[in-house]
Amino acid sequence: MLIDTHAHMDDERYIGILDDVINEFMSQGGKLIINSSYDKKSIEDSIKLSEKYPIIYSTAGLHPHDAKTGDEEFFKFLEESCKRDKVVGVGEIGLDYYYDHSPRKVQQEMFLRQLLLAEKLEMPVAIHSRDAHKDTYDILKKFSGRVTGVMHSYSGSWEMAKNYLDLGYYISFSGPVTFKNSRKLPEVASKVPLDRILVETDSPYLTPVPFRGRTNTPSFVKYVAEKVADIREISFDSLMEAVEGNVRNLFGDIKF
Ligand SMILES: [Zn+2]
Repeated sequence: MLIDTHAHMDDERYIGILDDVINEFMSQGGKLIINSSYDKKSIEDSIKLSEKYPIIYSTAGLHPHDAKTGDEEFFKFLEESCKRDKVVGVGEIGLDYYYDHSPRKVQQEMFLRQLLLAEKLEMPVAIHSRDAHKDTYDILKKFSGRVTGVMHSYSGSWEMAKNYLDLGYYISFSGPVTFKNSRKLPEVASKVPLDRILVETDSPYLTPVPFRGRTNTPSFVKYVAEKVADIREISFDSLMEAVEGNVRNLFGDIKF
């Protein structure tokens, strides 16, 4: 069985080939794709995809890159979207101090506001954090015991992962765990408790070994899961069984 807990199937790279990509995933045992959105148009597109494809569910949120577009009208739209049938979380949200596409103050404000929304609606969150782990943790900590979710495409240290685990977060691995130059991630993948591990592709980005350079697709989650299972010296099936249980625990509403 395959599950991809974070992908962007509304990306323009899939125009005209999406049916093939989804069919390929299902033919390999794919049961679920959680499609993450990042702005108003992406939320609309993601919901449309979830209406067309039974295996696609969505999270709705404003990415830190797009934080500067978060006005009152957007937040009204976001709250309505979060109440839709196949929207199962708020995300992706967070902080990105690597690209700084939006001012940091604005990123923090939008992050906080979306965490308040997740708390109000009792929904899990999908967190994007790049070069911003200290501030991300400080903000998430304010919601300790009230909001939890997943650290998507986790790229930090084991020390930091422990902090997120203490807050109840799940740690999700993607392509970089398969990269030869990745030093921190194998350590994190070996130490995260099995009942807190998730796997994803972040398609179309972060294509795993051995397909680096090609557009990523949900089928490639297999290579991420194989790598994590290898590191932990457990079988692929044991790992995916754990991931399935973790998805059900975190995103209660999903039927798959
Ligand atoms: Zn993403």
